[in-house]
Amino acid sequence: MPGYRRQLYRDDAVVLRVQKLGESDRIITLLTRRHGRLRAVARGVRRTMSRFGARLEPFGHVDLQIAGDPHGAGSSLHTVSQVEGIKLYGKSFLGDYPRYTAASAIAETAERLTPVEREPSLRLFLLTLGALKSLAGGEHAGTLVLDAYLLRGMGLAGWAPALTECAVCGAPGQHRAFSVPAGGCVCPNCRPPGSAHPAAATLDLMTALAGGDWRIADAADTGPRRECSGLVAAHLQWHLERGLRSLPLVDRENT
Ligand SMILES: [Zn+2]
Repeated sequence: MPGYRRQLYRDDAVVLRVQKLGESDRIITLLTRRHGRLRAVARGVRRTMSRFGARLEPFGHVDLQIAGDPHGAGSSLHTVSQVEGIKLYGKSFLGDYPRYTAASAIAETAERLTPVEREPSLRLFLLTLGALKSLAGGEHAGTLVLDAYLLRGMGLAGWAPALTECAVCGAPGQHRAFSVPAGGCVCPNCRPPGSAHPAAATLDLMTALAGGDWRIADAADTGPRRECSGLVAAHLQWHLERGLRSLPLVDRENT
């Protein structure tokens, strides 16, 4: 194939998704540190379970050797030739359905926030890795980790909800009306009909999650947590072309 250079390259990555390809092969969707999101074929996963299968499970942080052209067009499917597990977070979610669904929503969002393959996004990679690590570590409620991830991921995508100024006119302050179509909090002058009026504690929580202030976030009560999740989900779904499949499955009562 003219102009198609197949070469070996290394990178570390988070495994976002694993799909079957025939009997023994898998297509692995990866969010890599330096090469953005890419899909790679892992051949003979069933035959060589010790080498590949256990390491290429969703949510794992792995070090890979990949065959393909890291920059060119060519085939979009690269081939995994070696894999080492750095930290296989997927194991932590086995038998923990609420955290598993939160991890699934994180992985699906990461994929949706990277519509173009092989476009590097180091910040999204680090955010995704950090969220899975935190989820596996269990230091915060799973829904808080998820909502923090969604808010900050939307920030990287350029459509974080306005929280400290009016989304329409930019007037500073914590405005108490929230409009998803307008882009977040809105002042009394700009408030469109149908705006939500969340509790002040809900907006405090959302601001804390967006800024990584876990002292405030961990102390939030159930009501604000639930209201915050609802607004974050509505804001995310508005901006994604299609809704997330995994988000409605997140168990918000038990995480
Ligand atoms: Zn305004």
